[in-house]
Amino acid sequence: MHDILPADIAAWHLLESRARSVFASYGFEEIRIPLLEKTEVFTRAIGNATDVVEKEMYSFDDRNGDSLSLRPEGTAGIVRAVLQNGLLYGNPLRLWYAGPMFRHERPQKGRTRQFHQIGAEVFGAAGPDVDAELIVMAERLWRELGLNELRLEINSLGNSTERATYRDELLRYLVSVSAELDEETRKRVERNPLRVLDSKDQHVLSLLEDAPVLAEFLGEESIAHFEGLRYLLDRLAVEYQVNNRLVRGLDYYSQCVFEWVSNDLGAQGTVCAGGRYDSLVELQGGKPWSGVGFAMGQERLVELIRNQGQTSRAEPHVYMVLAGTRANASGIELAEKLRNQITGLSIICNPGDGSFKSQFKRADRSGAGLAFVIGEEELENATVTIKRLREDEPQEKIELPRLVGWLNEWLERQ
Ligand code: ATP
Ligand code: MG
Repeated sequence: MHDILPADIAAWHLLESRARSVFASYGFEEIRIPLLEKTEVFTRAIGNATDVVEKEMYSFDDRNGDSLSLRPEGTAGIVRAVLQNGLLYGNPLRLWYAGPMFRHERPQKGRTRQFHQIGAEVFGAAGPDVDAELIVMAERLWRELGLNELRLEINSLGNSTERATYRDELLRYLVSVSAELDEETRKRVERNPLRVLDSKDQHVLSLLEDAPVLAEFLGEESIAHFEGLRYLLDRLAVEYQVNNRLVRGLDYYSQCVFEWVSNDLGAQGTVCAGGRYDSLVELQGGKPWSGVGFAMGQERLVELIRNQGQTSRAEPHVYMVLAGTRANASGIELAEKLRNQITGLSIICNPGDGSFKSQFKRADRSGAGLAFVIGEEELENATVTIKRLREDEPQEKIELPRLVGWLNEWLERQ
């Protein structure tokens, strides 16, 4: 679990604010739900034979003996929330969320135990038009963030009957090559053979080349849904690859699934993953409302944003260098007045005392563009001495009534 430090926060803010405005432009509304849920909310939705439920959840019994878990993902809790609050009626519901998720994974590059996701969900719209819309919405976000290198992969998982038939066929194949599989993969074969498709092991991948392919088991409706999605993506000029080995780590997906992958992040290159989950609402005790959504991993996106070097630490505009108790009070008072008059202005007042020299050092380290100096002389004459910390200009004395005007002009030039 990592701390997010001030030096990195600009990239987080950029991602979050762009996501917020892009989602709003598609009519999505934000929902915030608790970090803790009853464990069964996740086990029922995600599936018992998945990595997340089998070994990644932070679960504990609370004082009443109820089993609770820190949320490993957003969707299951959101379905719980929309059902509990009666939000599913009439119109399709478009929601987005952001926040920390928790999984007890082996820590490695690209995987932490607390990580952050931003996700979007649509409930009550069954057609591929909504799938396509979610995909172009995410693409718009990448564009706004200047992330042009992401690759979109899509696949269809069909409905649950088709998947069950395929699962049996795949299982038969995997059992036939079982002698060649490692221990871990053999376990997967027993518990959740579809997940073997997801393997990153080169040998397993080469064995999979002869395995049956899910696409051949799809019925008419599933084929039509997938073709509908591809038609729309083509019309919207969205580039994609069909990856018929793409499955998702959670059981609730059906029909189309998709992922955006970056080549710049090493082995854990997926920055956004999603798909359709038409049985999830029913599984959680609601009417059969269809659902589709995605979740993006903020840490990985932040790394890409930072690599581009477009974000920098937010620096204050002004550092107040103040000599003596009287100057201290006047400085704080003046800073308040300036903040009242100039929105967005950022001022740091030197706290406590300190020689001019040490205060100027602090001013410099703060990154401020200007130092406003108030000492005895300035107090007498109702002036401020201004020193430009990043420009080679002589210092100036400005009378207080002219200060706001001066500062506004300076800000405009920045
Ligand atoms: P994988 O097969 O790689 O384990 P997953 O199915 O567990 O993926 P999702 O649950 O779909 O992944 O999560 C969506 C996105 O959230 C991922 O693509 C990734 O960007 C991010 N993510 C998931 N787990 C972690 C983690 N432990 N640390 C950082 N980011 C994560
Ligand atoms: Mg995982």
